[in-house]
Amino acid sequence: MAEIASNKDVSGTGNRIPVLVVEDDAAIRRLLTAAFLDTEFKMLEAENGMQGLSLATKSRPELILLDLGLPDLDGVQFVQQIRGWSQIPIIVVSAEGTEDRKVEALKEGADDYVTKPFGVNELIQRMRTAWRRTQREGLATNEPTLEMGDVTIDLDTRIVRKAGNEVHLTPLEYNLLVFLAKHAGRVVTQRQILAAVWGDEYSEEAQYLRVYVGYLRKKLEDDPANPTLIVTEPRVGYRLRG
Ligand code: CA
Repeated sequence: MAEIASNKDVSGTGNRIPVLVVEDDAAIRRLLTAAFLDTEFKMLEAENGMQGLSLATKSRPELILLDLGLPDLDGVQFVQQIRGWSQIPIIVVSAEGTEDRKVEALKEGADDYVTKPFGVNELIQRMRTAWRRTQREGLATNEPTLEMGDVTIDLDTRIVRKAGNEVHLTPLEYNLLVFLAKHAGRVVTQRQILAAVWGDEYSEEAQYLRVYVGYLRKKLEDDPANPTLIVTEPRVGYRLRG
């Protein structure tokens, strides 16, 4: 148990590791809530894919358990969306007889899978393995540092620098910047950005995006009124200098 206790500290998010469970079956969510009680994990619940995507950006889970059979959204697309901005470990939960979907999800970057009906102890062991692997990799192997002119993003430490000086960004500002940076040199539409960073249900909320692009420009542009880093593509979206 000592090892588990030290993992709690490493997470840096309080006592327990937040796990986002995206599952439309309330009985399974209840089962998992009970199963997590004696573990280092705590559950963030989403009963559909939209809610899941939104919680993934807002609540910063450290692991995702994803049911592939969701009422509103294809589980494989869910994995794609998350991988657009995050390497958070994803364990796919699939029903028997849906091998193809599971393979697709793994191809898109899911880390592991369990098949329903699953044993709770096995699931928790797999969660520990997946979570520890990312913690280790986060410390040991470097994700690349993204560079755009004099702005750099260290994806491991989440530190952003301009001309060598650390710039403090809120989690939302950071997620927005990373999403733009991962598509650097290409135009991304307002809807794509809103859906990826805020969640699908925000895809019409263009004013959120304008406000946050404004914040980023204030912090990162030499002249925020004449941006050269985050460029507006009128009536389409934005492009980050490649
Ligand atoms: Ca389901």
